[in-house]
Amino acid sequence: MKTSKSTYLKMITMLAALVILISGCSIGSMPDSGTTDPANGQKLKVYFLDVGQGASQLIVTPSGKTMLIDAGNNDKEQVMLDYLKKYHISKLDVVIGTHPDADHIGGLDKVIDNIPVSTIYMPKVQSNTKTFESLLKSIKNKGLKVKTAKAGVSWDLDDQVHVEMLAPQGTYEDTNNMSAVVKVTYGNTSFLLTGDAEAESEKAMIASGADLQSDVLLVGHHGSNSSTTQKFLKEANPKYAVIQVGKDNKYGHPKSAVLNRLQKQGVEVYRNDSQGTIEFTSDGESLHIVTER
Ligand SMILES: [Zn+2]
Repeated sequence: MKTSKSTYLKMITMLAALVILISGCSIGSMPDSGTTDPANGQKLKVYFLDVGQGASQLIVTPSGKTMLIDAGNNDKEQVMLDYLKKYHISKLDVVIGTHPDADHIGGLDKVIDNIPVSTIYMPKVQSNTKTFESLLKSIKNKGLKVKTAKAGVSWDLDDQVHVEMLAPQGTYEDTNNMSAVVKVTYGNTSFLLTGDAEAESEKAMIASGADLQSDVLLVGHHGSNSSTTQKFLKEANPKYAVIQVGKDNKYGHPKSAVLNRLQKQGVEVYRNDSQGTIEFTSDGESLHIVTER
């Protein structure tokens, strides 16, 4: 009798500890591993998809509106389609191709071929690559008309989800600086998605007087030294930063100088190469972060 009682007590204690452990993992912004249920209530989701050396961000709003910014390189076409399937994306309300570089628009043609798209934005810059031509062909086949991505363009993607383009502010010779820079705001939380914008564009954004302050910063140009200048980082003043970078990439991204700047400012850094896809969930007040590994 005595023995079974103490065993019972032990079991209860262990169970309670387990419950505390499990619930403790999902409080606040503590990162944890694994994936969450894609069916969400009044939550905004921002996925920094792991596409190796490249970039892609998927945004799903509380009422299920969807926006895709970039789609990785050409060899990530199937990976992109798999992601969209995984997150139950059957249509895209908005697609943004930040600039014509292959590591951003490479997978977009197949996405457009396979999933209905309502609106597509791209900056006014051409490229004579096969990748770019293939994208234009897919756009044409679907009868889509490209809207110009530039500073000042803004819209409400959902009730409380505001999207604003902060760049390009002008016309630049370097296509990286033509990158569409997109700020997504939901309640009191915000995301600054910078494409491959470099110092010149960052300077122009600061000069424009735009509100750059954001909770989450996509580190510009995969953590290249060309971007994330001290001044820009100070203006954006993010709590979290994401670097979309592939393992052992030939560019040496991210650069240690950029990592040092982020560390000095106390920014919590997440990376696709070491953590896989990074998923942010916002309830309009606080952020919850889940990493794939
Ligand atoms: Zn890039």
